[in-house]
Amino acid sequence: MLLDFVEKLDFNSDYFDLYKISNNAYGAISKKNSGMGGNAGFVDLGNFSIIIDTTLNDGAAKDLQKAVIHYTGKEPKIIVTTHFHMDHIKGNTVFDSSTLIITSHRTLKNIETENPKRIEDIKNTDPEEVAKMEEALKTEQDQEKKKEIENNLLYIRSIQAEDFSLRGADVSFEQEVILHGEKLTVQLRTVQKAHTDGDVIIYIPDEKVLFAGDLLFARTDPWLGSGDPEGWVSLIDKELLKMDYQVVVPGHGQIASKNEFEVEKKYIKEIMELANKYMDAGEEPTKIKREDFSEELQSWKSPILEWNTTFLTEHLKKHEN
Ligand SMILES: [Zn+2]
Repeated sequence: MLLDFVEKLDFNSDYFDLYKISNNAYGAISKKNSGMGGNAGFVDLGNFSIIIDTTLNDGAAKDLQKAVIHYTGKEPKIIVTTHFHMDHIKGNTVFDSSTLIITSHRTLKNIETENPKRIEDIKNTDPEEVAKMEEALKTEQDQEKKKEIENNLLYIRSIQAEDFSLRGADVSFEQEVILHGEKLTVQLRTVQKAHTDGDVIIYIPDEKVLFAGDLLFARTDPWLGSGDPEGWVSLIDKELLKMDYQVVVPGHGQIASKNEFEVEKKYIKEIMELANKYMDAGEEPTKIKREDFSEELQSWKSPILEWNTTFLTEHLKKHEN
């Protein structure tokens, strides 16, 4: 662990490793291939506790709820949603209406307009495709691939379940909300369009802690296709690097220090430059390869590189016209 004050806790979950990152803040970091999707976390404000994101997986959300009760002695009172992507909000359904969900106006708007389409698509998954996945599950020898198929099937089935309905948000805000606990003050703030339109950061100045949601993918390709890559770079420069904190819980990847934003910025700038270079040479940016990046970024392994190059091809064509 890069940061010596971060303590890995002895909490048993198939989905995440749990870290105490300051006196009152905890980061739940998704285990590889666990089906949890995004990372999550929670904070003990004294008289109440909050959860940050509930992940893609109901099992992970239930473990998170258990961890909150175990380490803070209280049921979570508030869930803060960092953005509308399903791998950060689907677990909301695990919590009943006694836990309030709060996010930015723009994220709530995205939840209400974008997510129903995604849910409809999954509900309408071709049964033949599902049958193929079930078949592949029986024959697949590679344990990692097998787990991946299993996770996908579980996700599709949970969305197709008759009683499934996504919990959105109960409270939304324009710019900023401050939570005043007995022992801690927590700031919820929305920023300019970057990973998505309406991203929320959770900042605890007294403990120098930042929960960045998917504004930080720590040492793994950040998904650019839901937001504004140029806006993201400028947000990192103008705001995220200038704030005062020692530890960041990213939306994906391991517990991080501020420097990881520099690395992420480098990736976004490089992939944009590469995409432009390919376009200028009359080639599709979909041909961008890992080896095209500077050395530090070449060892990353994520299917998101391919999604990004596909997205950038369209993105740059639009700008040309
Ligand atoms: Zn996301």
